[in-house]
Amino acid sequence: MFMARSIVAGNWKQNLEFYDASDLAGSLRVESFTSDEVVVCPPFPFIYDVSERLKDTGISLGAQDCSQYNGGAYTGEVSATMLKSLNVKYCILGHSERRQYFGDTSEILRVKFANARNAGLEVILCCGETLEVRKSGDHTAFVLRQLEEVMKDQDSQMLEDLVIAYEPIWAIGTGETASPEQAEEMHAAIRDFLKTKFGDPYAQDTPILYGGSVKPSNAAELFACKNIDGALVGGASLNALDFMQIASVS
Ligand code: PEP
Repeated sequence: MFMARSIVAGNWKQNLEFYDASDLAGSLRVESFTSDEVVVCPPFPFIYDVSERLKDTGISLGAQDCSQYNGGAYTGEVSATMLKSLNVKYCILGHSERRQYFGDTSEILRVKFANARNAGLEVILCCGETLEVRKSGDHTAFVLRQLEEVMKDQDSQMLEDLVIAYEPIWAIGTGETASPEQAEEMHAAIRDFLKTKFGDPYAQDTPILYGGSVKPSNAAELFACKNIDGALVGGASLNALDFMQIASVS
């Protein structure tokens, strides 16, 4: 029987300064982790140091984005191949903050996706609806359309090792979490979508993470849901104890 591995990933976003980031990475202890994999995604400038701090811990390294360009005269950009050369395993793509503030359209995300995969990175592909869309009742179709637009016409090798993160925008950084029922309903729809498009083994094998104000007090009830395979954690990943507690629940 196929079953997705559980993952807890921390997205540090644009937070911390060098020594705080280094201390945070250095204080993560894996002994109690029950999640199959734990990932941290620091800001770009801290990636090398954090990778040194995480050496031999078994914690994986992720990046929060990558460039749509593979290299050259693109001031300020960081390519997927640069990330790969720093031992980065995962790359978050399509986070709602990138879509909302930096113009990451589905077209751009398709290019970033291809760049990440060609460089050998595993993609954590984010999707999620606004409060307005949820209130309209169109949230499931909206989220599946977001996935479809990035995944369509990608060959099967490109889609290997995919991780999906469902993050309702109204629950990100707001303290408001989707109820386990709301989250599970969407995760089941995403699993069904993957099954219809790519077959049951692929659907069962693909981790689907929930993101949106996950904290130690709500992680257990979310992770108890059949189709929730872990979490993408923002705010609570900046506190080592909270993050370790979340990774010890799944
Ligand atoms: C996120 O932005 O990926 C996220 C889930 O943030 P928070 O946990 O702070 O809501």
